[in-house]
Amino acid sequence: MLPFSRVAIIGFGLIGSSIARAVRAYMPTVALTGHDADAVVRERAMVLDLFDDVTDTPGAAVTDADLVILCVPVGAMGEVGAAIADELAAGAIVSDVGSAKASVLRDLRATLPADTPIIPGHPVAGTEYSGPDAGFATLFRQRWCILTPEDGADATAVERLRSFWTRLGANVEMMDARHHDLVLAVTSHLPHLIAYTIVGTASDLEDVTQSEVIKYSAGGFRDFTRIAASDPTMWRDVFLSNKDAVLEMLQRFSEDLTMLQRAIRWDDGETLFNLFTRTRAVRRGIIEQGQDDPGPDFGRSHS
Ligand code: NAP
Repeated sequence: MLPFSRVAIIGFGLIGSSIARAVRAYMPTVALTGHDADAVVRERAMVLDLFDDVTDTPGAAVTDADLVILCVPVGAMGEVGAAIADELAAGAIVSDVGSAKASVLRDLRATLPADTPIIPGHPVAGTEYSGPDAGFATLFRQRWCILTPEDGADATAVERLRSFWTRLGANVEMMDARHHDLVLAVTSHLPHLIAYTIVGTASDLEDVTQSEVIKYSAGGFRDFTRIAASDPTMWRDVFLSNKDAVLEMLQRFSEDLTMLQRAIRWDDGETLFNLFTRTRAVRRGIIEQGQDDPGPDFGRSHS
């Protein structure tokens, strides 16, 4: 039996439109409604036939839904919570896909009725593209989806949501919201901050021209540019919402960078070699767990 019969999605970006496509593909009998703040995006979603009904307000999208998933930037979760609070059906589960979890839980608790089952979620899957055309049904296959229910959350609601994500192809993991934020600060948020910094620094250099940066980017730089091309609104909100964990990880990163700086200055090759050997093993682990293409150069075609 399907875990939900009527699903509402708010926000038709990469993630929201991918969930809609995946529900259409793997649970075709589920009724899908949705709303996006942008009228042009709503129009596009109708052309793409992503939903049975696209509504002009968030409230109208959720009235009959037994699952509501908020797929908007983290900073907009509270605003959407307030807009749907009076329209939710009795017993409807509210979830989200935001990249930070403690702040979303706080914002939704502050705006939704006290008896609403709120089960936050984060599919750890994505690309650098945004908008309803960027989504695809298989985005979540073999990827992790982390659910961060509060202590004492309704176990049946949690199981129904787990079943939903499993049907979309994801592997589901449970985590405390604060622990999620710390883990993702190091695995996702810090790498994005570093990529934004490196790409910014390179484009600011006066004695290296823009054309040289682009021409010789295969030396490593271009792999940072993919990450640094990610959506500015989304990432602004992630850093402001997960401030404490990001600042803590940044402090550790700065200390490690200083250690490497010292090793280079004092010709300490052993320290460099040992670290680079350890980091190579991390890459092997990612490939062994099926989280990236095993081909050289991320599987890019060199034909
Ligand atoms: P996206 O492609 O930029 O789409 C977000 C959509 O939500 C846009 O159409 C936006 O409209 C709309 N929106 C913004 N505020 C709204 C509001 N108040 N009410 C209704 N719609 C609103 O974003 P995304 O990449 O799908 O990310 C959505 C969420 O997923 C974020 O919380 C992000 O942290 C999380 N996430 C993203 C990734 C990733 O790789 N992209 C991965 C995992 C989780 P406007 O364009 O008019 O603002």
